[in-house]
Amino acid sequence: MKISGDVMSDCLFCKIIGGEIPVKKLYEDDDVFAFWDIAPQAPKHFLVVPKKHITGPADLAAEDEQLIGKMMRVGAQLAKEQGIGDGFRTVLNNGIQAGQTVFHIHMHILGGRDLQWPPG
Ligand code: 5GP
Repeated sequence: MKISGDVMSDCLFCKIIGGEIPVKKLYEDDDVFAFWDIAPQAPKHFLVVPKKHITGPADLAAEDEQLIGKMMRVGAQLAKEQGIGDGFRTVLNNGIQAGQTVFHIHMHILGGRDLQWPPG
């Protein structure tokens, strides 16, 4: 099985990016896709996902550095556009113990309420 590449047929987020599963899309370009989380943990909670299938943060290669930087920049821009530019949290879960449930790397962006620390 291919672990890291362009598209994986059994990956939920590859299906979302490909339009097979509908979502409330916020943004799309050649590299990244952003959409509202189906189970929001804050008043504003969306996901920024690379179109390239990468399993998680621990699977990033040197060639992905620019892509991850772009995810951060696009996410921050979207946060500003959604009115949470002054207070938002970015989260990338890696592995089951950290709460990762979808094994296609994604950056959560949460805001719109006071966020606690440590996150639990
Ligand atoms: P993880 O737990 O892997 O860090 O985050 C996965 C996120 O994907 C969760 O917050 C979950 O609510 C969201 N999610 C899972 N399935 C769907 C879906 O079909 N549509 C949308 N919009 N979000 C989803």
